[in-house]
Amino acid sequence: MKISTNYAKKFTCPRCGLRCYEGIETCPDCGLVFSRLEIATNKDAKQKMRRHDHDFIIMTSKLPSDVSRTKLILYTIFFGVFGGHCFYVGRYWRGATFLTTFIAMFLMVVFNSSLAAIGNGALLGVLSTTLGLIMLMWPWDIFMVVLKKFKVPIAIDLESNGQNNSAKKSVDLKSTINSDENTIKEDTTQTKEGEK
Ligand SMILES: [Zn+2]
Repeated sequence: MKISTNYAKKFTCPRCGLRCYEGIETCPDCGLVFSRLEIATNKDAKQKMRRHDHDFIIMTSKLPSDVSRTKLILYTIFFGVFGGHCFYVGRYWRGATFLTTFIAMFLMVVFNSSLAAIGNGALLGVLSTTLGLIMLMWPWDIFMVVLKKFKVPIAIDLESNGQNNSAKKSVDLKSTINSDENTIKEDTTQTKEGEK
């Protein structure tokens, strides 16, 4: 019977999307320790991605401490057309799509007359429609940033020294958690003994 749950707030696990009750420490589905989200940084995620290490990287719309919301909004509005906001948070593929599309549009304007001559302007029509549709990503991103829905990558294994030992790190973390649990157990036992 779920009685207390009616009053408990829920939130979405940023890693697996499971709806979790507020106050729990670990996601019951994917095992993410939620306290790690508080100290996970975008900088770590960018470093890892540059090394093509995508383990322990998750996308979250809750901005980490090292991503400024003001900067993100300004970058999206003023440099968004080149993908500036994507490069800022390390969404490199999305940034590259913006940049490529922008360059293609620029070239289209420069070579407008030559392109218009091909197929009575058919090529130019197709090109401008395609590029225009891709560029809809820009107002979409502004919309998402303003609504706090724009997702930013963060590294959740707390790697900060730039070494590629994530597997070892997670083992270390597990043992830390285990020893913490033992301490808690010991504390509880002591309290019980004290009561006797
Ligand atoms: Zn999860």
